[in-house]
Amino acid sequence: MDNPVSGKIETASGKPTVQKSLVCNFVIAITMVFLGELGIMGALAYFPELSARTVVFLDGAFLVCLLLPLWFFLSYRPMREKTEECNRKQQEVIRQNAFLHAVLDALPFPFYVIDAKDYRVHIINKAAGINVAGDLTCHALSHKSAAPCSGGEHPCPMLEVKRTGKPVILEHLHYNQQGAHRVMEVHGYPIFDEAGNVVQMIESSMDITQRRLAEDALRRSEASLQDFLDNANDLIQILDLKGRFLYVNRAWQMVMGYSENEIGRLTIHDLLHQDSRESTIGLFSTTSKISQAVGHELVFVAKNGKAIIVEGNITTQMEEGAPVAVRGIFRDITKRKQLEEQFLEQKSITEKLIKFSAVPIFVLDKNHLVTNWNKACEKMTGVTAQRVVGTSDHWRPFYPSKRSCLADLVLDGAYDSFPNFYESFDTSTFLHDGVRSEGWFENVGGKDRYIIFDAVPIYNRAKELVAVIETLQDISERKKLEEELGRLATTDALTGLYNRHRFNELLGQEVARARRYHTPLSLIMFDLDYFKNINDTYGHAVGDQVLQEVAKVIRQNVRATDWVGRWGGEEFLVLCPEATEKEAVLTAEKLRGLVESHVFETVDTITISCGVTCFKAPDSVDAFVSRADDGLYRAKEKGRNIVEIV
Ligand code: GH3
Ligand code: MG
Ligand code: MG
Repeated sequence: MDNPVSGKIETASGKPTVQKSLVCNFVIAITMVFLGELGIMGALAYFPELSARTVVFLDGAFLVCLLLPLWFFLSYRPMREKTEECNRKQQEVIRQNAFLHAVLDALPFPFYVIDAKDYRVHIINKAAGINVAGDLTCHALSHKSAAPCSGGEHPCPMLEVKRTGKPVILEHLHYNQQGAHRVMEVHGYPIFDEAGNVVQMIESSMDITQRRLAEDALRRSEASLQDFLDNANDLIQILDLKGRFLYVNRAWQMVMGYSENEIGRLTIHDLLHQDSRESTIGLFSTTSKISQAVGHELVFVAKNGKAIIVEGNITTQMEEGAPVAVRGIFRDITKRKQLEEQFLEQKSITEKLIKFSAVPIFVLDKNHLVTNWNKACEKMTGVTAQRVVGTSDHWRPFYPSKRSCLADLVLDGAYDSFPNFYESFDTSTFLHDGVRSEGWFENVGGKDRYIIFDAVPIYNRAKELVAVIETLQDISERKKLEEELGRLATTDALTGLYNRHRFNELLGQEVARARRYHTPLSLIMFDLDYFKNINDTYGHAVGDQVLQEVAKVIRQNVRATDWVGRWGGEEFLVLCPEATEKEAVLTAEKLRGLVESHVFETVDTITISCGVTCFKAPDSVDAFVSRADDGLYRAKEKGRNIVEIV
């Protein structure tokens, strides 16, 4: 169908005008007839011989032949004109009607004219999607229902129009032609009869299903956005152009401590800490341009007066090229800042601790580069921090050529390599994962030093090794004292030879070795002849001098591997490892001869008597010594200044 719009639209008609014209012409014709009849009456008066039948005939013929054509002549033209006029008007009405229908069809929303009595749809446009005018009721059309809507949640527009007698706009549920449920915004407009009753309703409706769905989605999304904002840990605020708060989220309220009522009375100026007021206020004042500050740091003041350090973004929100609000999203970094400050303080303390520590310390980073080289280290090594920090030259003060230091080995985790680099090392120090070693170093800062050095790894929180700190303790003086004490404990103060205690230890060691390896071991015991006379003649001091000189002669004339000790007052022992009895006798003879030929300062000459013996398993130390003593006794008996073998 070309034009689906249909219905009963009342139109104007030309009929009454045509009838009026005909009546007028008819009156003219009657008048003419009357005048014609008067003429016939006159003729009868002149021609009395004419019969009544002739007169009637003539009268009839007159009427038919003259008056009717006359009437027709008189009437035809105006009738035709009126008919044409009427047709024109009808055409106009049809055209207007078609135009109206075209307009209605052009409307993008459904349009109906509904009868108020039986709810039948009189007019329906193309957008309604169905041509049912006059046949279907609006409830059958829109609700697939035989009965009118009863109202309820979605009131019937017709009922409302009839009830109020006024145009209504309301939301109403319809079904479309596919049976889908649609939400319509219905505009109902009443048409009244002369008595003022509603006889028809013009209904136009708009499908707002999508709008409602979008609104619902928007509402849900706004709700979830609100939920998101309220549960965000960041502080979110929106200010109006005067710096008043349009919105703050829950985190903001919690941190700043203001109630909603209080926030309503505040402006951003009340909250900015004086320290950041000057630098920040410009960001919150609106300008005609969009402005954005990213990662900006500023300080707020909470209700309790506490400074809240925040970092975030401040953005001017624009609408149609004009600023409407200023949005700020901040993160409370107060704790982080405090921690940073603490960390910096701690770092500074640590740096100072290292720098001014009395113990020499240097630190290597994971790339073996020196990061710290403290004052004490400078003093010990004579190398300034300036020269060594940032380099890997930390070995220079300690070694003649480049090699790994203890800190390097720890950094490399090369614990197995320690024996290749250090004679002594200890991994069981009280320092966690630390390693200790010690030893003499030549020419460190101008002198030889005995250094105890500890290398301790430093791990970060991810347990990654990031540095090694090495401490150096110069214990040269202590070491020298210890060595001196040791020497004093093992040597005879007068002669510098091993004392009896130490010689006994040496005897034990060498006897054990000879026993284990079946190697020869010989012992020479000698005693100064008539020494008492020297003391008596020259005094005790001269006697001491003689003892020292004898010791010197003996020490200078034995092998490096031989041990010489003072056994008693003027009794001495020479222990000769790897020496057979024969070799020992030769040594004893050599020593006896040397003493005999030595010229002593005051006493001139003296002699010694020697007892020689060789170790024989299973000799004990005592038995071994005792046999040498026997040899000495025999030498004395035989007249002194001789060597006697037992
Ligand atoms: P002999 O040839 O039999 O060994 O005779 P002798 O005089 O050497 O032996 P004797 O045992 O009678 O005397 C040893 C002396 O050595 C006695 C003691 O005063 C002296 N004497 C022991 N120790 C020291 C010492 O450290 N200094 C000095 N000056 N004399 C000492
Ligand atoms: Mg003697
Ligand atoms: Mg003696």
